[in-house]
Amino acid sequence: MTPEELRSLIRTVPDFPQPGIQFRDITTLIGHPQGFAASVRHLADAARSVGAEAIAGMEARGFIFGAAVACELDLGFVPVRKPGKLPVPSIGVDYALEYGSDRLEIDPGAVASGERVVIVDDLIATGGTALAAAELLRRAGASVDYALFVIDLPDLGGAQKLRNAGVNVRTLIAFEGD
Ligand code: AMP
Repeated sequence: MTPEELRSLIRTVPDFPQPGIQFRDITTLIGHPQGFAASVRHLADAARSVGAEAIAGMEARGFIFGAAVACELDLGFVPVRKPGKLPVPSIGVDYALEYGSDRLEIDPGAVASGERVVIVDDLIATGGTALAAAELLRRAGASVDYALFVIDLPDLGGAQKLRNAGVNVRTLIAFEGD
């Protein structure tokens, strides 16, 4: 399936989790066997073409796509976690969301020095989550030059924010106007 065909598998839920947010729900995409496989293959093709040595994904929906991409490419997966989940000393960063704020943490030993780590998540909105992940991975010694997303909300400017931080962005589907 092409990225344009994948668009129709994404469900839009208005006013979730709060009024004014058009929630782009990937539940319907990952529940579709060919749709899920095709989205992982498109992301994996992009990660392969930029020389990924490991894949990092953000909890929780980044785990779904990131782990599948890592598996497809025979690479390791670095989980970027919500706070308080890691059983070892971690490093963390607080960041703002399109709605609310949050914190991400990683095990600093999860990446090798200079390792080319590619970030994978379901969606980029303001870019705050991916920027925080890139910062954390870089602090742990990774080289973070690329981030891949199934969905871009271009009007929220996240991709540009990442590019300004030296992270190239590839996305499969854009939803304008949100
Ligand atoms: P951001 O940090 O603003 O780029 O937000 C990205 C994260 O929040 C992604 O991991 C998404 O899972 C989630 N998210 C933000 N906005 C939306 C939205 N409109 N629909 C679905 N998920 C969203």
